[in-house]
Amino acid sequence: MELTSEQVDIRKAAREFAEGEFRERAREFDEKEEFDLSIWKKACEYGFVGAFIKEEYGGHGLGFLEHSLISEEFWRVDPGCGQSILSCTFGSEMVQAFGSEEQKKKYLPPLVAGEAIIGFGITEADAGSDVASLKTTAAKQGDSYIINGSKMFTTNGCIAKYVLIFCITNPEAKDSHRRHSVILVETDRPGYEANKIHGKMGIRANNTAELSLNNIEVPAANLIGEEGNGFYQLMDFFNKTRNHVAAQGVGVAQGALELAIAYVKKRKAFGKTLGHLQGVQFKLAEMATRIEAARGLYWRAAYSMDKGKPDHALISMAKWFGGETGVYVTNEALQLHGGYGYISDYDVQRFYRDAKIVEIYEGSKEVEKAVIAAELLKKVF
Ligand SMILES: Cc1cc2nc3c(=O)[nH]c(=O)nc-3n(C[C@H](O)[C@H](O)[C@H](O)COP(=O)(O)OP(=O)(O)OC[C@H]3O[C@@H](n4cnc5c(N)ncnc54)[C@H](O)[C@@H]3O)c2cc1C
Repeated sequence: MELTSEQVDIRKAAREFAEGEFRERAREFDEKEEFDLSIWKKACEYGFVGAFIKEEYGGHGLGFLEHSLISEEFWRVDPGCGQSILSCTFGSEMVQAFGSEEQKKKYLPPLVAGEAIIGFGITEADAGSDVASLKTTAAKQGDSYIINGSKMFTTNGCIAKYVLIFCITNPEAKDSHRRHSVILVETDRPGYEANKIHGKMGIRANNTAELSLNNIEVPAANLIGEEGNGFYQLMDFFNKTRNHVAAQGVGVAQGALELAIAYVKKRKAFGKTLGHLQGVQFKLAEMATRIEAARGLYWRAAYSMDKGKPDHALISMAKWFGGETGVYVTNEALQLHGGYGYISDYDVQRFYRDAKIVEIYEGSKEVEKAVIAAELLKKVF
């Protein structure tokens, strides 16, 4: 599979943007646990944010592959900054797929224009991988919903203008997968409280929050999609976003490989550079091969989505293997930096810390394997 010349240009432009706009400041943002949102605004102006949002909603109407290519390039330069820019549309896939025409026209254009950030609160303290067991409720009262509950680890919870809340609207439904809905909450509504989580292992530039939702009243018109259909909408949403996460894993791995290559070319041992040692060369070869395999998976998975025939098993393979590749390659890159990697090389340490999240969020690697196996068992060979 080859990229079109337009896709090659997008990838090059994303790489140049990342190099020019945030490589030099990545350490500062990681240390301070914050990001300069003027860089996100600039990325919006350049068309990197919400590239997959259709033109009629202010976007560029590009595919999921293009968006994933941008993710890879941004994460290659710095995962925390890449995530701080591209996660600002996390949730828009749901609005675009299931929102009414009016909702799409209202909520999507500001995300592309750099005027609003969206988040999506799904996870709760006692409901992570098992999303259906959440406790947050939205009770219908006349033309409103009253939302009560809490959310854990919500990306952009403190800086978003609106957050989608995955909640229970139909507790009486016999089928436990028909009890949930997705409701958009404007964060300036009374009862919305977001507390920033400090001390994350990686992607520290990116905002992560714990949400407290106390009697928030929202118009019934803020329901996204169908009442009681939230679980199925969520599965569709993850099919789209997991491929971006797979690309994140490839990006962090590629960035770490490049750091490792630069280091072994200059560090001397046994009378020559490390790069001359066969054991070191084998490591580099294995790192690069895994990256190519992971990249091929996410390209093919994105292609299946852009053709309108999402291959669920392939998407989960890409997400699982992308995450594992990120963790494997950053570990080897740090190993090749030896004691200097452990003690003083901030960049390789940061990549090592950043990579792990790809194996955890939006479906842990075990959950991805469960999806792959379920798809396999459905097939007749
Ligand atoms: C930085 C960060 C940002 C996040 N952003 C968001 C966000 O924006 N919105 C949001 O809603 N959530 C977000 N999350 C939450 C994230 O999606 C969850 O952490 C993830 O889904 C796992 O849930 P959990 O942490 O409760 O782990 P658990 O569900 O408790 O699982 C713990 C571990 O158990 C194992 N496990 C779980 N299920 C299975 C299984 N079926 N088979 C085998 N092993 C299994 C896995 O190894 C898993 O890692 C974020 C998390 C982090 C750390």
